[in-house]
Amino acid sequence: MIDTHCHVDFKDFNKNREEVMDRAKKKLNSVINSGATLGGNRRTLKLVKEYKGFLYGTLGFHPESASKADSSIIEQSFKEINENIHKAVALGETGLDFFHIEETEKRNRQIKVFKSFIDLANEYEMPLVIHARDAELKSFEIVKKYSKDIDVIFHCYGGNLETMNKIIEESYYISFSTIICYSKHHKELVENIPLQNVLTETDSPYLSPFKGHKNEPAFVEETVKKIAEIKSISPAKVDKITEKNAKKIFSI
Ligand SMILES: [Zn+2]
Repeated sequence: MIDTHCHVDFKDFNKNREEVMDRAKKKLNSVINSGATLGGNRRTLKLVKEYKGFLYGTLGFHPESASKADSSIIEQSFKEINENIHKAVALGETGLDFFHIEETEKRNRQIKVFKSFIDLANEYEMPLVIHARDAELKSFEIVKKYSKDIDVIFHCYGGNLETMNKIIEESYYISFSTIICYSKHHKELVENIPLQNVLTETDSPYLSPFKGHKNEPAFVEETVKKIAEIKSISPAKVDKITEKNAKKIFSI
């Protein structure tokens, strides 16, 4: 099993990061930590070094932060991403999140940063990890228009079926998180997607499948089990296909 998207670098894990990683090592093949800010990318690179061969990193800048951050912080992030690009297995997370963001100017800042990441992914022929919320179709249209022959992953996709079908048609991927353990909408999405387009993740520390327990990479097992249940096949089969997808995309 592979957790293709989590944030072990977050301070939520400062007190028990080692235990969390030990539990992950016992159950999983690999973990992919997603850098979401300037500091997040730096911490991700540290973890990549510390857990070499087990934890891999993606370098990005979250759209919500893109709306708020000083342009100098964004510039510095791109500078450091360029310098460390060979240490990353993908770019992102990036994308569009219009959920709390109403102002056009702030939305446009997200679009600008998103496009810069697409350019970078094209340049280095790297996979792109997209965070899209309340802007799934728009994110899809932008990435379809500007990306060139790269693997595209919609992480924790929660949009409608129609846009999901467009994503599938382009042979992009959707990474399902532990949210499928309790979200009816996500179950419906899982029902309607071929496993060839599926990856598994936790998005930990968010979206815990267990009430009162913080999410962590080892719990990606719950995602695998739930997909198996929804599709009435064995967890082993889900694991085999989704792990193969992840290994191919991220070259791990
Ligand atoms: Zn994330």
